[in-house]
Amino acid sequence: MLPDVLLKKPRTYNEGEYIIRQGDSGDTAYILEKGQVEILIKKEDGKTKSIGTRGPGSIIGEMAIIDNEPRTASIRAMENCNVLEISRQDFHRRLDNADPILQTIMQVILTRYRDTLARIDEISDKKGFPSPEEVEREFALEQDAVESLKIANEFKEALDHGELALFYQPIIDMKSNDITGFEALMRWNHPERGFIPPDVFIPIAEETGLIVKASLWALNEACKGLKRIEHKTGWKDCLTMSVNFSSTDFATEDFVENVYNTLSKTDVAANQLILEITERILMQQPETARETLEMCQKAGMHIAIDDFGTGYSSLSYLHSFPIDILKIDRSFVVDMFKNEKNIELIRSIIGLGKNLKMNIVAEGVENKEEVDTLKFLGCDRAQGYYFAKPMAEDEVIKLLKSWDNLKTA
Ligand code: C2E
Ligand code: CA
Ligand code: CA
Repeated sequence: MLPDVLLKKPRTYNEGEYIIRQGDSGDTAYILEKGQVEILIKKEDGKTKSIGTRGPGSIIGEMAIIDNEPRTASIRAMENCNVLEISRQDFHRRLDNADPILQTIMQVILTRYRDTLARIDEISDKKGFPSPEEVEREFALEQDAVESLKIANEFKEALDHGELALFYQPIIDMKSNDITGFEALMRWNHPERGFIPPDVFIPIAEETGLIVKASLWALNEACKGLKRIEHKTGWKDCLTMSVNFSSTDFATEDFVENVYNTLSKTDVAANQLILEITERILMQQPETARETLEMCQKAGMHIAIDDFGTGYSSLSYLHSFPIDILKIDRSFVVDMFKNEKNIELIRSIIGLGKNLKMNIVAEGVENKEEVDTLKFLGCDRAQGYYFAKPMAEDEVIKLLKSWDNLKTA
């Protein structure tokens, strides 16, 4: 089942309008993107007291979505305001993923804060603390909360409106110099901001659960792309397609079913698909990962460990998972000649990986010296700018059509 994605679109409130009313039950918190608001508390004697203002970057209305109590204050727009909404469900899904100690401490702090608010008159004149407004604004800005929420909202739209595309980077066999396949890499062409790199949007998509929908889209698109490429170039049934998956994908119940369905719908053979996952998935969810990977491998798919060497797993640990391919992280290749240790690391990853009958792919290969050394060390395949950058489908088709000539040139 896909996780509930309940991020909402930005909203506007006009000057004087109430964003939150005291006593209401609340299912939304807000990040103030633009404008000033005033916080008002109605006291037992019926009088209303203003207890402060908030500006861009502040989070408001968060208490009621944490503990389900009625709103303790009203919040009114002092000028035209833009807010980003965080729904109770979205917040709780994030909270459920947090450390239990964090969850408990948050509840305790909230209870104490409510108690403090109830005694607002006694404490409102105490000096010596920075104003809550200052603290919140700095925190929100430092944490890039506004930016990440905006990107999350926009990424959801992008998924629904076809702003995502796949680029493909060739993977080369070091002995034969042939292209063995491609890795599918996501690209987001934002209508106003232009190209946004995956390093920015993938972590946000992972945090919000949107990655599940995005990965399924990528898998489907990559399979369809592979079929079109085969059809237009004549490279039939011999190319692999590597698709990246995150730990959130693996945690969904119907992951395997979705992958099977996509393969059969697009008529791609299971042994042409490589699932790229990181060591983190194996460490975080060893049992689920083992079961899922075994099913995929039995069906004929290949499993690659991405960014190998950057996690904490040992090769002996990896041995207990059905893994076919290790991708040596780019960071080892980049500094190969500057840092002796990296060559040694590459040598031992290749040696041990081979003992475990795994295929070794080096990532981020940028020059001939690296190619020669990796070949010498026994690396099977390579991927990197030296061979080709990730490219659009029509360029892949051109490349494959001319590849045999290039190879012998
Ligand atoms: P990754 O899976 O390790 O992908 C390889 C990245 O290295 C790609 O960056 C590729 O463009 C870059 N690269 C390849 N060769 C070279 C080289 O020789 N030099 C340098 N400097 N870079 C090279 P990209 O496309 O920006 O993707 C970044 C990361 O975003 C990926 O790292 C992957 O973790 C994530 N990503 C991209 N597409 C997807 C996707 O569809 N799903 C998921 N879950 N993650 C994705
Ligand atoms: Ca990858
Ligand atoms: Ca990688």
